[in-house]
Amino acid sequence: MPYLQSCHLGLHEEKIIMKDYISRLFLWELFQGLGVTGKYLFAKKITVQYPEEKAPQSPRFRGRHALRRYPNGEERCIACKLCEAVCPALAITIEAAPREDGTRRTTRYDIDLTKCIFCGFCEESCPVDSIVETRIFEYHGEQRGDLLMTKEKLLAAGDQLEKQLAADRALDAPYR
Ligand code: SF4
Ligand code: SF4
Repeated sequence: MPYLQSCHLGLHEEKIIMKDYISRLFLWELFQGLGVTGKYLFAKKITVQYPEEKAPQSPRFRGRHALRRYPNGEERCIACKLCEAVCPALAITIEAAPREDGTRRTTRYDIDLTKCIFCGFCEESCPVDSIVETRIFEYHGEQRGDLLMTKEKLLAAGDQLEKQLAADRALDAPYR
């Protein structure tokens, strides 16, 4: 009985070895791999060749910030400090003072991008659509302070991108 059992196991092992041998001889695994390559060769591409190609962006994209103005050039920001209060990263610093005409405006508006987590709360809290997040996500800093967005830098970004910013807000308006 023990002899018969060992003989049966031997045959089984022989089958496995034979199957493995044939598989190697005809490069079965190689063709299996090529099959996967072939399957995706003509399939719809889901990757892009960044940076030459860019993925589409939502109008709600949360990139680097900007401060906007009204069409007459007046700053939108009324220095209410809601954005500063709501910022979970304590990235916004605002100082304000009344102007000669009695209106209140910021004398300092800084965003420290090294602290910012791009949550968008500042934008959501702003009652006058002043502080916004743009579609800009490719930027870097080489020196201390490069990633500190001052009021001047934020307003300059707003002036430069106003057309896109206004269009994005208009697209998002029906959902607000
Ligand atoms: S996006 Fe969020 S973390 Fe960044 S400044 Fe605005 S509120 Fe603060
Ligand atoms: S950016 Fe908006 S929320 Fe922030 S202080 Fe100015 S008006 Fe207020």
